[in-house]
Order: sequence, then C-alpha cells, then structure tokens
Amino acid sequence: MSFQKVCASLLAVAGVVLLTACPSEKPAETADQPAAQAPATPAFNADSAYAYTAKQVAFGPRVPNKPAHVACGNYLVAKLKSFGLSVREQPFQAMTFDGTQISGRNIIAQYQPTAARRVAIFGHWDTRPFADADKQHKNAPMDGASDGASAVATAMEIARVLSLQKDKQAPNVGVDFILFDAEDWGYEADTQADKKNQLDESNGNSSWCLGSQYWAKHLLPAGYKAEYGVLLDMVGAKNGRFTREGTSLQNARAVVDKIWNTAAQIGYSDYFLFSDTGAILDDHVYTNQAGVPTVDIYDHPPYGSAYFPDYHHATTDNMSIIDRKTMKAVGQTLLQVLYQE
Ligand SMILES: [Zn+2]
Repeated sequence: MSFQKVCASLLAVAGVVLLTACPSEKPAETADQPAAQAPATPAFNADSAYAYTAKQVAFGPRVPNKPAHVACGNYLVAKLKSFGLSVREQPFQAMTFDGTQISGRNIIAQYQPTAARRVAIFGHWDTRPFADADKQHKNAPMDGASDGASAVATAMEIARVLSLQKDKQAPNVGVDFILFDAEDWGYEADTQADKKNQLDESNGNSSWCLGSQYWAKHLLPAGYKAEYGVLLDMVGAKNGRFTREGTSLQNARAVVDKIWNTAAQIGYSDYFLFSDTGAILDDHVYTNQAGVPTVDIYDHPPYGSAYFPDYHHATTDNMSIIDRKTMKAVGQTLLQVLYQE
C-alpha cells in the first residue's frame, strides 16, 4: 500500500479531502455495555493464526510469477476448502509498473454461501518483490510476515473457527473471505525515483492493488454485494496500532464505529485507537468503488511523522515481529462484530 499515491488518485478522482489526525469521541453508551449482553462468540485462536502466518512465510516471498507464490496460493485454496468453504479462484493477467507481465489469482471463499446478509473480509496474499524502504537491503525480497501473511492468517483462523460452529451457533451473516493478489508491486516515488512508472495512473488506476482493481471490474461472485467489508493489512506486528483511516470513514463510518466500539467493549482499546488519520491507497479504495462499504484495519504508528511502521517494505517484516496478542485483538474483535450482526 502507499500513502503518496492516494493523494493523487483520490484527490483527482473522488475529490476526497484528506483528513488530518484529530481525536474523536468514544461513545460511552456502547463502550460501557456489559460484555454479558453480547451473544456467545467463539474464541479466536492466536496460536493457530500465528501458525498460518508462519506457514505462508515458509513458502518464501510470495512474489507473482515465482514458484513460492504459486505454491502458497495452492495451499490457501486447499486449506479454505478443507474448512468446507465454497472456494473460487479468479486468475488474471496484469502488467506491473516496471513492465513485468504477471499471472495473478484472487481467491474467494464463502462461508454460509446462501445467507442473504453478507460481510466481506479482504486481505492480500502476495508480497512486495523488493524491500525498497529498507536502508540496507533495498533490492532484497521480503517475507511480508505482517504485510500480507498476518492478514490472510487472521482471515483463515476466522474461517476455521466459523467452520466448526454448528447451525445454531453460527452467526446471522454469511462471510466471504476475498484474498487479493498483486497488491504490493506498486511504484513508490520516494524510494524508486531511479525507476519509471510505466503504467497510466489516470482515471483512478494505480500501480498498486492490481488484484482488487481486477476484482472490482470483474466481480466474483457475479454481481457481488455485501453489507460491508473489512480489509486487513499488517495486523500481526508487536505493538500494532489501528487508527480510523480516512477512506474508511468517508465510505463506511458506521462500520468503523461498530468495529472500534466492539474492540473497546471487549478490552482491545490499546490496539484500536480512537484517532482519525488520513486516507491511504489500499485495496479498500477499489472494494469501496465496487459498492462494498469497506474499512481498512492497518498498522499505523500513532506518534511522530511516519505513516507506516518501521518494518513496512523492509526485510525486518519477518516472523520475529509477529505477536499473537495483536492477532488475537484483531481476530477476536472481528468475530465479535460478526456475532453481533
Ligand atoms: Zn505492502
């Protein structure tokens, strides 16, 4: 994902005014509700989510066109099928900013596929091909343990837990796990000034988020609709902090409120900060354009000028930064949100 690019694309296309950081009020009436009133929600197992993260990383960098990428994609499809979900693959071809022709694949897995009310959980399963934000290893590949793998792992653990619930224990909504490919092969002017962006980024197109752009133009399932969506990106790092992002507030403010209030209700307000921050370019830009009001939960440092955490697009984004506590905070909050529907 990228910060700079959103300024250009969103301002140009949607006339979005970027929000600057400003604190918002936490509604007391929901935050103070006793937990006992909430329906029984199954436990999100952080050990399992950690293991799913490690498994993806163990394939090696999931860079499109590489064998590790194909193998990891096959693993994700097989695993989601093993949970009894209805799984579809959406292959696509795309060109990246540096002129590479890639074969991508979006993976869509549906839980309770016939339920009328639906919620989407989005993530991206590819890794950036180069750690260009890394001061020492700018051209090295990266593990993408938090950036990519942790989000997919959180989605998979939610899928696993839901698949174990008997009929009357199931939530009132169907859940669609939509894993995008080729999110992270984008052009970053700050770190790649020596390269040329060969893609036309006018008309809202971007060198980032190639899989979600394809999906938004070729919805699968056809005519796809959901009440709302939640994009997970970088949700596994120690001391992860999630602020209320601009495009999410613009398109899905009520869903932002629902998630952040739920997190506070069940004790995760240290992770979900009631702080409103500017818009970024991530897959939710395109899922929102596709008509699914989507919130982006991504790791945003709450203090200082940095927009992304230190490990972002660096070789330090490896298993050593992954923390079960962060994964539990995000996964349990999302399960709780689903069970309150
Ligand atoms: Zn990234």
